[in-house]
Amino acid sequence: MTEPVRIPVLSDNYIWLLPYGQGLAAVVDPAEADPVLAEAQARGLRITHILNTHWHPDHVGGNAGIRAATGCTIVGPAREAGRIPGLDVPVDEGDRIALGSSCAEVLFVGAHTAGHIAYYLPREGLLFPGDTLFAMGCGRLFEGSAADMFAALGKLRQLPAETLVCCAHEYTLSNARFAITVEPENAALTARLALVEAARDEGRPTVPFRLREELATNPFVRADTVAELAARRSAKDVF
Ligand SMILES: [Zn+2]
Repeated sequence: MTEPVRIPVLSDNYIWLLPYGQGLAAVVDPAEADPVLAEAQARGLRITHILNTHWHPDHVGGNAGIRAATGCTIVGPAREAGRIPGLDVPVDEGDRIALGSSCAEVLFVGAHTAGHIAYYLPREGLLFPGDTLFAMGCGRLFEGSAADMFAALGKLRQLPAETLVCCAHEYTLSNARFAITVEPENAALTARLALVEAARDEGRPTVPFRLREELATNPFVRADTVAELAARRSAKDVF
């Protein structure tokens, strides 16, 4: 399997095209269909699966168009089954989706939305956390509690530190500027903020990134208690 392809759409969304096998691909969280179909065609890839992490329109908006063009199978969170357009295969914690000789494991991470799931490919060391984990940030708590997010991030934090995190938004600069207010003495964070500012000044993406960077700099991953995470999330909401 080659590295996932990042497709920027809307104002700050990333759709991920995940090549596997011989000329096949899965798509994670397609906000739109046309840019995905164009990218797949340009690379000579046939889309076999859509993997949705949660029901928000900027993650499922391309489902119908991609399926109409490719006949692919749509996999998504069982707990949000009624809200995932065209869902074929509802999945939950512990389920596995075979992609050729690769395997995507489903992790339940409900918090941003109540049924949110993440996809983890252990052999490739890839994580698709949707809107649960961002670079130096986490998703807003629209449907779940701080305790839910604490549990979700606690689960993701257990994955190997070298895991490559392919999240769904370019929120890194705003997250970094907030994170430094939480831990102004954190040298790793200071260094990362400078790198991110330089990247964004030049219009370069900051995603994907390694999980180990989050262990060192993400104030939500680094929160020791639910109360600490809750306070940080509330402060970020109005930052
Ligand atoms: Zn969302």
